[in-house]
Parts: sequence; structure tokens; C-alpha cells
Amino acid sequence: MTFYEQTPVPRPITILEPPISRPSDAPSATQSPIPIHPPRDTTPNDPKRTTISSPKPFPLPTLRLENRNLNHPASALLFTSINPATVLPDCLQNVLRLLYHTPSSHSFTPPPTRSVTLIFRDMDGVAYTTGTDLDHDHKEIHFNLNHISNVASRPNSPTRVRDEIIGVITHELVHCYQWDAKHTCPGGLIEGIADWVRLNCDLSPPHWKKEVDGAWDRGYQHTAYFLQYLEDIFGNSTIRHLNDHLRHHKYHQDSFWEEQFGLGVEELYEGYVQHHKEEERKNKKKQDDL
Ligand SMILES: [Zn+2]
Repeated sequence: MTFYEQTPVPRPITILEPPISRPSDAPSATQSPIPIHPPRDTTPNDPKRTTISSPKPFPLPTLRLENRNLNHPASALLFTSINPATVLPDCLQNVLRLLYHTPSSHSFTPPPTRSVTLIFRDMDGVAYTTGTDLDHDHKEIHFNLNHISNVASRPNSPTRVRDEIIGVITHELVHCYQWDAKHTCPGGLIEGIADWVRLNCDLSPPHWKKEVDGAWDRGYQHTAYFLQYLEDIFGNSTIRHLNDHLRHHKYHQDSFWEEQFGLGVEELYEGYVQHHKEEERKNKKKQDDL
């Protein structure tokens, strides 16, 4: 599964730099079409947020929209839930800030994506991203209208459908702009980075939770929470640097993590597992003390 070919998306449903913050904090302080985070304090675990000053926008590629079935009941719901003309560029600004800091940053070295076409249609699954047949620098995000119907059919908070649509779009946009170690990056890490961005945009769906059973590269939110732990421990920009490392190097598990963190991925993950268990113990004690 190379994401430039075709990438399945996780099942159902949030950064900036400045706009970055902790996923579990209070709601974003600004009014924006999309959740946007303020700058993070350089101190790990500082839950405070600050107001976002208008960050300089990234240059965007050509953005297109296609709906292949306006008769589908989810189509009306789609357009009453979001305005794609504002959501798509706003989501992409968030993705780029998380992956590349600022437009003037020396690390702003994204893949040469020239256009992104968002296509709503009937299909299986949730969504996937692919290059066009003629040119892989032109990306297509295929989004299943039935998925929107499914989410709408469940008991939800009023913003759940909107958050789900924006969350999936955000995840897929990451695939249009992340590096993949010259097609050698494990799928679990690719999907983990996409959901790490979604997590940091406050767009995690209600069913996501930290789980430490299974391997570090289970992908999606499982790997995303592990990546967030690394960001907390090693500081802001850790995942941004990791993405940049995937630009320059082919992925060799023995050296990839060691070069960046001084530890192997299994040791890092064990640290995450122990940290999580300690958090759980503290939480349980708090509950017991109440
Ligand atoms: Zn994906």
C-alpha cells in the first residue's frame, strides 16, 4: 500500500504553527471554519492555548470539487454541513503548517503536488487518495457518500457529520503532502502521521482512544497517539522533522529511529506503553479518591 498509489482511510473522524496544541484540551479559542490550534508552548505538556495571530498562508495548488451523484441523499447533507470552497483550503493550510511549519521555513519542502481534486461518489470504504493516471503530482481524493449517510444515521452530536467530513478530508490531504521515504515507508507510519495531523486539528472521532496493545505500527490513531507521545517528549516539530527525514532517506528501521531519537522504535514504544500505564494508574487513583 503505497499512499501515492491508493490509500485506504481509517474509519470514522485535528495544527498550526503557529497553530498547534494538545488534542484533549478545551475547544479552540478562535472562530474559524475549521478547528485551528494556537502555537504550542515549547514546554511539553503545557495545556495552555493562545490566540492565533493570522499566520502567513501557504501557497496552495489548484483545488477542484466533483460530485458524481447529486441524487445521493448524502449530497444535500454534505453541502449543508460544509462549504468545500472554504473547508478544503483551510484544511490544507492546517496540514501544511503541521508538516512544514511556515511557508518561509527552510523545511517547507513538500512533494510537488500541483492539484487536488476532491471527488464525492458511491464506493466502498471511507476514502482514499491516488495520483491521476497521467501524472502523480495531480492528486484525487475519493470520498464515499455512503460513509456520510452512515455517520448521519447514528445518534450524534450536532457537529459530528461536519467534523467527520472535515476529519477525513484532513487525513487524505496529508497523503497528498507527506513524504514516504521514496516509497519505502511502512504503511502504519504513513497512516499514523495522517491521523496525527487529524488528532492535532481537534478532529478525532469519539471512538478514538489511546490503546497500547499491539505494535507501534498498527497505523491510524494507534500510531498517531504514539507519535503525539514522541512530540510531547522530544518537543514541538518532532513529527515535522520525522516527515522531513522521510524525504531524504529510504526507510531502514534499524537506523531510522536511532538517528533521530537515539533509541530504536521498540524502546521508544516501550516508553510510551509505560507512560500510558502510569497515566491510567493515576487516573484510576483520582477516581478512587473521589
Ligand atoms: Zn490514509
